[in-house]
This record gives sequence, C-alpha cells and structure tokens, in this order.
Amino acid sequence: MRVLVNAGPWLSVPPRGYGGIENVVATLVPELRALGVEVVLATVGDSELSVDERVSVFPDGQFPLLQRPYNQVCGVVPAHQHAVLRRVAAGDIDLVHDHVEAAGLTTLAALNLPGLHTLHWDLQKHPELYGTIDGHVRVNGVSADQLSHAPEALRRHSVGHVHLATPLAVGADRKPAVGKEAYAVVLGRITAGKGQDLAARLAQRKGFDLILAGPVGPYHNPEDLAAADPHNPDVAFWREKVAPHVDGTRVRWVGSVMGKARDELVAGARVALFPLRWNEPGGTAVVESLALGTPVAGIARGCLPELVEHGRTGLLTTDEDELGDLVGAAGALDERECREQAALRFTPAVMAARYLTIYERLIA
Ligand code: UDP
Repeated sequence: MRVLVNAGPWLSVPPRGYGGIENVVATLVPELRALGVEVVLATVGDSELSVDERVSVFPDGQFPLLQRPYNQVCGVVPAHQHAVLRRVAAGDIDLVHDHVEAAGLTTLAALNLPGLHTLHWDLQKHPELYGTIDGHVRVNGVSADQLSHAPEALRRHSVGHVHLATPLAVGADRKPAVGKEAYAVVLGRITAGKGQDLAARLAQRKGFDLILAGPVGPYHNPEDLAAADPHNPDVAFWREKVAPHVDGTRVRWVGSVMGKARDELVAGARVALFPLRWNEPGGTAVVESLALGTPVAGIARGCLPELVEHGRTGLLTTDEDELGDLVGAAGALDERECREQAALRFTPAVMAARYLTIYERLIA
C-alpha cells in the first residue's frame, strides 16, 4: 500500500518547536512504515522525517505567512496542494491521507482515489469552507466529542475518530528521573480556550503552586512579551486575565518548554491541570501527561472525558470552583495507573493500527 500523507506547507516534520499537525504526522508515519505502508510525504524541503519519498514546493515552513487570515493567504497552500495533485497524477498512490484543513478537502475531492482527511482544528472556524464535500472523501476526528460538534456536512462523511498518541506512552515504565514535587502544571498555548486564567485564580485562592508552560501567541519567552503586539488576542488574554495572578512564586509562567525539559516539568508535577473553556479537540498534552505518570484534573468537556478515566487517571468536573478542590485529590491518584493506561491506549502503534484499518476499508 502506498499512501501520500499531506502535512501541508506550514512547518517541517517533525517541527523544530511548537507544531500540532506536524507532530501528529511525525508520530504516525514511522509506525505506518513499520506496518509495511510506503509513505510519500508532502511537506516542506527541510523536513527530516524518514519517508519513502518526499514531495515539496517550499524549502522551509511558511508559518508566519500562513498566520494571516485564511482568505488572504496568497498562493502558498494552493501551490503546495498543486504539487500533491501532480504527484498523485503519476497513478501509483492508493490513498491520500490529508491533514491540511479545508483546502485539503478540496484537493481530495478533485482526486479519483480514496481520500481521508483528519480534522485537527477548530471546526467552527470556517464552516462555509465545508459546504460541499465530494462523495468519496472521508473524514476522521481526533475525538468523538470533536465530531459531535462538527458541521453536519462533515459528520455525514465521518469514519469515526482516532485518538492522538505520544511516543512517551511506549513502555509503561518510561519516566524521566525526577521525583514528584508539589506543583500543578498547565501545559499548552496560553489562550482563552485553555483557561490559564482560571488555573491561576484557583491556585491563588485555594493555595497550590502552579507552573504555566506554553507560548503566548508567537512569543515563547517572558522577556519577548515586553514588546509584544497588543492586538494579538492571546497577548491581550495574557495581559488582562492571566498576568495579574502571576506573582512569580505561587504562580509562575516559564514560557515554552520543549523536549526533555518539558517531559521533566510534566513528570515532576503532582497534577496536570486542564481548566478548559473550549472543546479541546484532541489533547496531545493530556495523553503526554498520562504517559509521564501525571494524573489530570480538568473541566469535563471536549476530549477530556474520553482520554481521562475519572477516579483512576484523573478527576473531572463541570464546576470551575470545584476544580480547585480536585487538584489535591487528583494528586493522590496512582501515577503507575496513568502510565499503564497511556501504554495501552495512546501509543503511536495503537494510532497507526487504527489508521491502517481505515485505509484498508477505504481502499477496498
Ligand atoms: N507543548 C510544548 N511546550 C510548551 C507547550 C506545549 O512542547 O511549552 C506541546 C505539548 O507538549 C503538545 C503540544 O504542544 O505536544 C500541544 O498540543 P495539544 O493538542 O495539547 O494542544 P493544541 O495546541 O494543538 O491545541
């Protein structure tokens, strides 16, 4: 089976820093190849992931340009998608697995072969772009909850959901050599939907130590924020709602934390806090926390109730005030249980096996 996986022109695969879609592709592709799938990857030129073949137009990621509103992006996505169409025209691809938002659906519709589009993004963002989906195109969600909020046009074409995975889940005993300390961590972009303001207020009110890790818009370090664009909605959220509760002792912001430092920060926390205000679609940071043996406390919405077993690997509530009280209790849950669940459910091999089953069905 030869599959063209389209990761888009945004960032290299794997991403050098933050990168959602690119991380998923980097996690999935090696496992697909281990299962015997030949992978042609459509990406940018400086991607380092090993594949059977690469298709690219741009030498490196076009993320800064693509941060502009969707309809003002002149030519980058179409040029990339055109290269995909040209490659498929050679006639030796069995299926295209697309990760490129709405433009990907248009490309899939133009192809005369099975196409699967994975929904990675906020489905309410451009409902108009999903108006017409060609009959042979299929979509999958990254959680059942995400699909339940999708426009009807998308849901009609759904083959179900495949939860996200993390290489950290491989081997239940894998764990950075750090002991637990008495702090909670919120790992993720600092943005209203992820609720860092709620976490910070609860930490101050209920008296627990809290570390916030993640970028504020394009700003990765506290010192970059001094000259930040005040019109960026995440910068405004940080300044107005979060920063007033960040005192540098009880509540700290450490900026973006990557790689080993991120793993140690999460593994060293008693609790990973997800004070969600949006329907988190896939929750990579949730499965990473469990894989690192850190129980979750969170708002029961989005994918959280699917990923976290209430009372076993975390504690969930719909009540924002109660969430503060759950932090202590969640910290007492068994960290081994979290790692074992992650090793059963959230490994790259589990994710790839699910996708392979879907590919086989669509090709048949
Ligand atoms: N992340 C990171 N360092 C940070 C903040 C986030 O490495 O400081 C990573 C996090 O570990 C996860 C990804 O960024 O792998 C975020 O993905 P998730 O699905 O949790 O949220 P999204 O940003 O896609 O909404």
